[in-house]
Amino acid sequence: AEKHKSPEKEIIKKDSSAGSIKAMASHIVGYPRMGPKRELKFALEAFWNNKSSAKELQKVAADLRLSIWKQMADAGIKYIPSNTFSYYDHVLTPPLCWVLFPQDMVGMEYTLRGCSHYIVPELGPEINFSYASHKAVQEYEEAKAVVSALCEDEITRMTQYHGIDTVPVLVGPVSYLLLSKPAKGVDKSFSLLSLIDKILPVYKEVVDELKTAGASWIQFDEPTLVMDLDAHELRAFTHAYTELESSASGVNVLIETYFADVPAEAYKTVTALKGVTAIGFDLVRGSKTFDLIRNGFPPGKYLFAGVVDGRNIWANDLAASLSTLQALEGIVGKVDSANETKLDEELKSWLAFAAQKLLEVNALAKALTGLKNEAFFSGNAAAHASRRLSPRVTNAAVRKAAASLRGSDHRRATNVSARLESQQKKLNLPNLPTTVLGSFPQTLGLRKIRREYKVNKISEEEYVEAVKEEIRKVVKLQEELDIDVLVHGEPEQRNDMVEYFGEQLSGFAFTDNGWVQSYGSRCVKPPIIYGDVSRPKAMSVFWSTLAQSMTKRPMKGMLTGPVTILNWSFVRNDQPRFETCYQIALAIKDEVEDLQKAGINVIQIDEPSLREGLPLRKYEQAFYLDWAVHSFRITNCAVQDSTQIHTHMCYSNFNDIIHSIIDMDADVISIENSRSDEKLLSVFHEGVKYRAGIGPGNILWVNPDCGLKTRKYSEVKPALSNMVAAAKLIRMQL
Ligand code: GLN
Ligand code: ZN
Repeated sequence: AEKHKSPEKEIIKKDSSAGSIKAMASHIVGYPRMGPKRELKFALEAFWNNKSSAKELQKVAADLRLSIWKQMADAGIKYIPSNTFSYYDHVLTPPLCWVLFPQDMVGMEYTLRGCSHYIVPELGPEINFSYASHKAVQEYEEAKAVVSALCEDEITRMTQYHGIDTVPVLVGPVSYLLLSKPAKGVDKSFSLLSLIDKILPVYKEVVDELKTAGASWIQFDEPTLVMDLDAHELRAFTHAYTELESSASGVNVLIETYFADVPAEAYKTVTALKGVTAIGFDLVRGSKTFDLIRNGFPPGKYLFAGVVDGRNIWANDLAASLSTLQALEGIVGKVDSANETKLDEELKSWLAFAAQKLLEVNALAKALTGLKNEAFFSGNAAAHASRRLSPRVTNAAVRKAAASLRGSDHRRATNVSARLESQQKKLNLPNLPTTVLGSFPQTLGLRKIRREYKVNKISEEEYVEAVKEEIRKVVKLQEELDIDVLVHGEPEQRNDMVEYFGEQLSGFAFTDNGWVQSYGSRCVKPPIIYGDVSRPKAMSVFWSTLAQSMTKRPMKGMLTGPVTILNWSFVRNDQPRFETCYQIALAIKDEVEDLQKAGINVIQIDEPSLREGLPLRKYEQAFYLDWAVHSFRITNCAVQDSTQIHTHMCYSNFNDIIHSIIDMDADVISIENSRSDEKLLSVFHEGVKYRAGIGPGNILWVNPDCGLKTRKYSEVKPALSNMVAAAKLIRMQL
């Protein structure tokens, strides 16, 4: 389970007795926790830098929780989650910490830029679990103590008036184990699931304590249910929830799945669980799950139907969701009691961030009970119509070009060994050529210049001059270090490797406050791809040629690849993702060809997120890899043999997709090795006789494992100097 959010739910109960009363309820499975203006980030960083006390940090956190609970209560949401807050990460190493995985953020993509975005617990047979953190109970009680000042409607606001009765959220026991990994040195035969009986007593304690505190619902997140589990793994769910049944009597147990279709076997298992009152499914991405429900849902249980997409920022198509809900209602039975300035108004009306999603969920729940807010629905329908028809979305030429790509195979005409030969004639590089991966440290000086330029304190010319100066410094340093293939250091990429290119492409929009947590306190602001993508003019040619003019050594052009631009953006939901990816690929292709024309002979196209975009379910993976790799090849399929194409990947374990990486057909590949258990080289070596830039002999390159922008010069200089010295030493021994 890699990243994510999940949809907000409508709750429908399958009722065996006919004619029970209809009422509505709505449920939110999680919410952004960084705060609308990244309040938590700043509080955390102030605390880490000793600029504030632990008390002050706790106060910020408590205020944030409170404002989220109140916001949901005010929007009329019935099932409000608690224990979804954490300061840093959500699944921690033992002693167990009762935190939700994965953290949900309504309306915001939660991406960890490639890494598995929680700290993976490492477990062995000797481990003993104990009930360490009482956070779930504390947060439940904290919400319960909230007394809302709102009482304009005493009846419906009764719960808020007497405190907010939340649904505490726990990582389910089976997913907790399945998402852990065996500790180093543990015997290969060790199965994580063998720990289930050690962990369940702790769950029983938590459930007991929550019950005593007054909780009437408990949510267990079991996101692994959407993966391809075998019979033995599925049996663990039956075992675990049977064991929990007696402690959980008197409280409603909700199991949430998330993010994808649930396989038929898993559906069977989860719907048959005893002691479970309700099951939540993602029906935004789960059209097949819809069919399973149609074929049978257990009587007497609640269905939490995820119909509002929490992973994206597009306004829900309320009319469509309502008819889905009505269809479900027919199948399942009865409904039971259960800050943007930059975006223009038209574009804004197409989007829904967290706060608006709360309103959508509630409007749907109300409509289902016959209290349809006509104005809200017709406003929503008008926004959808304007989006469908807008000329800002459609570019006929781009659509035609991208449509012709599917099903064809784009690759360079010559094979990689012949290309490398022709490149070597031009570049004349030594054995074990040295290079770096793009960025150099972002110094305080550089940041200051950017800030001043942004607020118009310095002019465009002054800014360009300062960036030029920075490039000059970086080029000189690399020459002094005797690096073979140079980079310009990316000082002009003011924000981010995706945002920088997105800002120069048509079809992209940017928010001021659409922050998404990346990891820890780091946040990113993903661009929004709302329309057909094209490249009005060259994006990087000016800086790359400028840098090339400062040196005789080859200067590497530096681009972000189409797959990474796609994976790190909010992508339009009105056409398949591959379609959008092909459009971006064509835009990057234009750029690659312009760089070549301008005399840049080495071009690096970064795809750090390739692995991260891999769908969870196996049956979808081959298709993704196929179009993703194809998109990459499109960007450079037409360059000359003598133009050297590099790519770079990091943050993930790539061992399982090596064949796809090779199929990208780059001339030189640099992959971060540290997350692949340091086994990458041997995987390349054994599995495939790869003839391009990774491999033995004269096609092995020497470089750091990623860009250097978060490093300091005091670290970078000695490290690179050692790197070059080592390469030279080995060259002498060859
Ligand atoms: N070229 C980018 C840099 O060096 C690559 C960043 C990345 O791999 N995430 O910063
Ligand atoms: Zn990297």
